[in-house]
Amino acid sequence: MAVERVAVVGLGRMGAAMARTLSRTGFDLVVWNRSHEAAEVVAADVGARVADSPAAAASSASVVVSSLADDSALRAVHSDGEGTVAGVGPGTVVVETSTVDPETILRLAPEFERHGAHLLDAPVSGSVGLVEQGALTAMVGGDASALETARPVIDALSKAIFHMGPNGSGATMKLAVNALVHAINVALSESLVLAEAGGVERSLAYEVFASSAAGSPFIQYKRPAFEQPDETPVAFSLDLVAKDLRLILGLADKLGVPMAQGAVNAAAAQAAIEAGLGGADMSALAVHLRG
Ligand code: NAP
Repeated sequence: MAVERVAVVGLGRMGAAMARTLSRTGFDLVVWNRSHEAAEVVAADVGARVADSPAAAASSASVVVSSLADDSALRAVHSDGEGTVAGVGPGTVVVETSTVDPETILRLAPEFERHGAHLLDAPVSGSVGLVEQGALTAMVGGDASALETARPVIDALSKAIFHMGPNGSGATMKLAVNALVHAINVALSESLVLAEAGGVERSLAYEVFASSAAGSPFIQYKRPAFEQPDETPVAFSLDLVAKDLRLILGLADKLGVPMAQGAVNAAAAQAAIEAGLGGADMSALAVHLRG
């Protein structure tokens, strides 16, 4: 069945970029964001209609893509009075791309099922630039036929789509991936500042990291952010890094998995936030270490 219209709810850095990519690849969009001005800006940019509420957005689309900061935002946007749950009908698929606790997904999914709709936890790896290239990696938990319905939409945003299993498995996998990403971010920040302190010029040091055995995609695409921190827009804030690490350590605790490095990385993010860098990009850990 063709996707008739896509609702994008949550138009922060990722959601706005998703709306732009989905519009460019031919989807008819309706959008909603808590702060109305941001919705108007994106709507004007992509030629979309702004809905009055998440429920109104969901009722006029067959697939809903949501990108929200954290677990409490999910409850506000999906479950509250005028939330998406109140707008969905039989067959609607809600593609929840935010990084959240798997428990939140398991609590939310039955609310949609009562209306004959499906929730997919479909968190993504990759940042704003990869959204714009349609090159995210999506980790999907939930019903296989709902994934087939939503696949053209997720495909427009992604280079790879993994069906992990039932609801919650996508959210779990995303926390595991981000434990790795945040470890690389802390290690890269420390290594870059170490090389600089030892007299190596910043971009030459970065060139060597990028060419080395450790030169992962993250190290490649974060290069402008690490080399020119004052001139590169924020892609992923340190506040959201701290949120991820809280969720990661909470899951590890629940499952009885020791994650000593995760705790060190959480402390590194917290120290930078306490120095006033919460709204800065994750790469500002290096700025903080330079003092
Ligand atoms: P962001 O720029 O901070 O945007 C957050 C969005 O959530 C905004 O639309 C904001 O609305 C909305 N929001 C926050 N609290 C809300 C509430 N209580 N009720 C309703 N809406 C609320 O964040 P982002 O970087 O786009 O990230 C979005 C999600 O994707 C997060 O879960 C993040 O962990 C995940 N993610 C991000 C990246 C990345 O590189 N940025 C990569 C992968 C995954 P307002 O505009 O009204 O504040």
